[in-house]
Amino acid sequence: MAWDRRKPGWIRNAQDRALRRYLAQDVYPYSPYYQVRFDEAGIGQRGIKSRADLHKVPLTTFDDIVNPASVVLRPDEQSIQQYARIGLVARVFWAKLWRREWVVNQRLIDPVYKPLHWHVEDGFPIGSSAEDLDRLAELGRRWLELAGVARYDVVVSVLPPGPSLAYWELVLGARQAGVSALHLDPSTTVEQLAAARPNVVAGRPNDLLRLLRAARPVERNLDGLRTLLVAGARVDDATRKELTALVDGQAAVVAAWAPPGVRSLWCQCREGDGLHIAPDAELLEAVDPLTGAGLVDGSEGEVVWTSLDWKGTVLLRLRTGVYGAVDESPCPACGRTTPRLMPTSTAEPTFARVLDSHPAVQRWQAELRTVDGHEELIVYVNLRRNGHPGRLLRELDRQLTVTQFVVLDRRGLDARISSHGDARVLDLRP
Ligand SMILES: [Zn+2]
Repeated sequence: MAWDRRKPGWIRNAQDRALRRYLAQDVYPYSPYYQVRFDEAGIGQRGIKSRADLHKVPLTTFDDIVNPASVVLRPDEQSIQQYARIGLVARVFWAKLWRREWVVNQRLIDPVYKPLHWHVEDGFPIGSSAEDLDRLAELGRRWLELAGVARYDVVVSVLPPGPSLAYWELVLGARQAGVSALHLDPSTTVEQLAAARPNVVAGRPNDLLRLLRAARPVERNLDGLRTLLVAGARVDDATRKELTALVDGQAAVVAAWAPPGVRSLWCQCREGDGLHIAPDAELLEAVDPLTGAGLVDGSEGEVVWTSLDWKGTVLLRLRTGVYGAVDESPCPACGRTTPRLMPTSTAEPTFARVLDSHPAVQRWQAELRTVDGHEELIVYVNLRRNGHPGRLLRELDRQLTVTQFVVLDRRGLDARISSHGDARVLDLRP
């Protein structure tokens, strides 16, 4: 579907329709977890009409989900009879009458819903049905297209083979795109890599750094290299710069990444710097990290992710811990009109954003250090309100996992900050 060639208004309307249908016909009937949440929030089966209503759905974190099976869609006879469209109900009825229930299961239910394939993100299993895998393959194809991988390129991957999204999206995407791919692993040497004569090398940021450092001069040892696909971990600015310097104008460095729970990678285009998202497969919102309230379109906040039409494991309004803004204007680099996530620079730590945006925090300084091999974060704060800061500090702690808070008066904190050359973040780690 040519989602990325049309106007953003058209995309929004299609998303509204898809969201309404998905929540009423798939999520509410077949997800025990969200059915309870929707009933508690007074939403019911058909209470969400469009994206504008999405804020009524409570936010999800992995910690809330005690049993990962409770977020897998599981249609059974009872839930089909109760909630499904009349056509499906009738087919189940006739199949039962003829004692041929297996026909319904095999032909109608299983290909769409049965989780066949699993990957694991942050210890959380994510199930995909046959239909989901077809979709992931198509999204993987789009990833390669955005990255400027051509049909006759040879892709060599040093991503760790295993149950991770990046690995499977690359395997399925290369297959779908008809691109030749060799899947090795991170222990691959430069000699093995060079022997495969890759035009495209895919891998985690640090594995690519190690290989390219060893491959210098790249124009001689990897002379066909045109594209580096950085995936499997989020690339920070320093690593990205070094990778760019190592390939020295010979190849483009293109990143793709998504936080745990998101069903397909967010992808840079070859020349751009935001991450293109898939408006037919996901909805992104930016929320205030402290209150969870939605923000005005285009403003920066914590990114919250909602599945659209995925079966298997379904997550709605998942807190990703990623900070950024969603830009719906056409991409200045490639001209596509699919929304892009502009992540907040990874150079600035998350706790700095949270502290900066909190209305009760007047000034702060943070100290990072390592004690007995453990990282500690100590935050010195000066608060705007008087009285007991306990509740506020607990609220901040949920966002920050701070080892210790030290509340100081304004003068004490100012003196501390100026004695450290005005630094607000002191990194004392070795
Ligand atoms: Zn672009």
